[in-house]
Amino acid sequence: MNEHDSEIIRGVLEQRGFQATDSPDNADIIIFNTCCVRENPERKVYGRVAELKRLKMENPDLIIGIAGCMVQQPGEVERIAKRLPHVDLIFGTMNIHELPELLDQVEAGYKAYRIWEGDVERDGSIIEGLPIRRAPGVSAWVSIIYGCNNFCSYCIVPYVRGRERSREFQDIIDEVKRLGQEGFHEVVLLGQNVNAYGRDLRDGRDFADLLRALDKTPGISRIRYMTSHPRDFTDKLIYEIASSETVCEHFHLPLQAGSDRVLAGMNRGYTLERYMDLVSRIRKAVPGCSITTDLIVGFPGEDDDDFAETLRAVEEIRFDSAFTFVYSPRRGTVAASMPDQVPGEVKTERIQQLISVQNEITEQINRTLKESVREVLVEGESKTNPSMLSGRTRTNKLVIFPLHPDVSQGGLVKVKITETRAWTQIGEVVSV
Ligand code: SAM
Ligand code: SF4
Repeated sequence: MNEHDSEIIRGVLEQRGFQATDSPDNADIIIFNTCCVRENPERKVYGRVAELKRLKMENPDLIIGIAGCMVQQPGEVERIAKRLPHVDLIFGTMNIHELPELLDQVEAGYKAYRIWEGDVERDGSIIEGLPIRRAPGVSAWVSIIYGCNNFCSYCIVPYVRGRERSREFQDIIDEVKRLGQEGFHEVVLLGQNVNAYGRDLRDGRDFADLLRALDKTPGISRIRYMTSHPRDFTDKLIYEIASSETVCEHFHLPLQAGSDRVLAGMNRGYTLERYMDLVSRIRKAVPGCSITTDLIVGFPGEDDDDFAETLRAVEEIRFDSAFTFVYSPRRGTVAASMPDQVPGEVKTERIQQLISVQNEITEQINRTLKESVREVLVEGESKTNPSMLSGRTRTNKLVIFPLHPDVSQGGLVKVKITETRAWTQIGEVVSV
């Protein structure tokens, strides 16, 4: 979501005549697009922006800005103004459309700070038609719903990105059609909870209807989406995905924890049993699909037994892979003021244990791919080895394979997997 916001910021800047540069030393403007979902990246922003003081002293015309959800936190603008006085420009996730006006202000010699201060209980508006400068490649992000209504107790997103607002059905269809015409082959539909899509539009259409309408868009061979909340994953949606041609057989379903006590404290709205039931319905309807997840260790009050339940759930469900996070308290969230915060060293020990259990499972699952032939969408040259091409299977496994005269970026090729690893599979082209 944050990276897609950066594409819009870049689009707005290019429209104003700016061009990208690789080095901060050559820049006329530097904008940090931040995220406050976890603590670490937030801390880094302060350090990185502080380092730019030197450049600003050498070139007082350099514009330094901070954008993104970090600045939407209460009191953050004042904190930045005090600790980083060389910052000229601050704008929130819902103010990107105001960037030209803010730049006028900065260029006239003033500071420009603008964050969305609407009522988080009410809808914010959606601004259509902003220029988006997408990174060249095969895949394009498309936002379908902004904000979140879930208030998981650990999460800051609902406070900084506001309530759920779905884009109009037709606006999304038109954008994806355009992307197909522009040469993109894959779209990734974005939202904090994509399966809440349409609820606020009240025209009776939901996420499953959107997927059906987007299936077979000319030029678009694959549709992905992130993220879907396990609580809202309906049988209608499973059916739609199972019967669609282009929606990929990959389900990213954040479990977060394996203990029902912790899940209740997190306000996730499901039990482990319900989650496992969903997984088995999905696996039955879409055989061979991959299932990945997000997991948090060290939620307040998580004891050894709770953590053991997470490990057991991971072993039983056997995810293809998992994003694992150490819980970090976020200002203003319910969990931040819960008693029994878990000590840092316990969290570190638990995450290491969790990662090692999951890595073993990932490797075991990937080993079963050996000798099989998979459809791969070619993304281009491998980032780590320029004599190889890289791409992904429909189940979102990264595959690299030797350059081939008939294979180019955006092509769908059949690749035989010859060697498997945790993160990258190696293969050879069998047909184009
Ligand atoms: N909306 C998505 C969902 O509910 O699955 C995920 C959005 S969140 C930006 C991405 C992941 O960050 C979450 O699934 C969760 O695992 C993790 N996360 C969120 N808040 C966190 C916190 N305070 N500490 C650690 N991890 C956190
Ligand atoms: Fe955060 Fe929960 Fe919303 Fe995801 S669903 S963004 S974890 S509050």
